[in-house]
Amino acid sequence: MPENEILAGIDLGGTTITAGLGDCSGNILQQRCIPTLSENGPEDVIGRMASLIKNLAQEVGFKPKALGIGIPGLVDPLLGKTLFLPNMHTQWRGVCVSQILENSLGCRVRILNDVRTATLGEMKFGLGKNVSNMVFFSLGTGIGGGIVMEGKLLLGPLGSAGEIGHQTILPNGPYCGCGNQGCLEALCSGPAIIAEGVRLFKSGQAPVLVKICSNDVRNVTPETMAQAAREGDEAVGAGIFHIATLLGIGVANMVTSLHPELVVLGGGVSKMGDLLLEPVRNVVRKRVRMFPVDDVRIESSSVGEGAGLLGAIALADIKNLGAGTDELHL
Ligand SMILES: [Zn+2]
Repeated sequence: MPENEILAGIDLGGTTITAGLGDCSGNILQQRCIPTLSENGPEDVIGRMASLIKNLAQEVGFKPKALGIGIPGLVDPLLGKTLFLPNMHTQWRGVCVSQILENSLGCRVRILNDVRTATLGEMKFGLGKNVSNMVFFSLGTGIGGGIVMEGKLLLGPLGSAGEIGHQTILPNGPYCGCGNQGCLEALCSGPAIIAEGVRLFKSGQAPVLVKICSNDVRNVTPETMAQAAREGDEAVGAGIFHIATLLGIGVANMVTSLHPELVVLGGGVSKMGDLLLEPVRNVVRKRVRMFPVDDVRIESSSVGEGAGLLGAIALADIKNLGAGTDELHL
């Protein structure tokens, strides 16, 4: 493979950095994870990201022509600067990530918010391949999203368009990390689902879950809960159904607002599969009344948690962001 076709991607997370080398068709040649160790500060984290890419390049035998990075928080994609990363030590205000890495690696470096990057991954290499209008929900520790309209990824002036996890679902619901009450994220994120599982585990209403978790409450996850529901824990099934119904309201709001062709549920929590998808589809049919929704597909991501890295590789391949842009042409 000619050297100029190799691209690098990094999915920077609060606890893990995933880096990989691939081609513009989304074939990953080599990938590796290391701990983020954000407590060491941005200089150390950026230095180890550079070493990781250099090591991967050496192993594959090709130098990447560009690097894309998905970053957890607010970034300026044009200046290649982080603005505010709430889950990283020191919060990385004004760190020139692109410039530092361009100097170190000698190739173009692009940065973008991590969930907008995952949306790019789903568009380029996942279910969004032949679609012009898509809404992507990333369901994990938090809920993020991305909106693609007429083939363009919406960014907004601050790169924050698509924060659909922070729409209000319950007016007086639980407080959210963002400061609002009753956000979709506060109700349907991984921790919210696990809290319900732990409550049922401890109250004796989830005997199958207790067995699957070997009587250790730390093993309660959305996946073990889904298994317990399938194997007969009715209370767990009802808990998941309730949460999926609230998620369905969030999805229905997006469908009413944007009439996308496709809604994709991604992130770790989407592994619950039909237990989420079926209630969500039913709520959308019930609540979107202004136009027929038979042609709106609602699916689980086909690239799963790989969307972040694939999106970073797709981001590396974008030549011009264009000054003053508040959308990304795909
Ligand atoms: Zn919120």
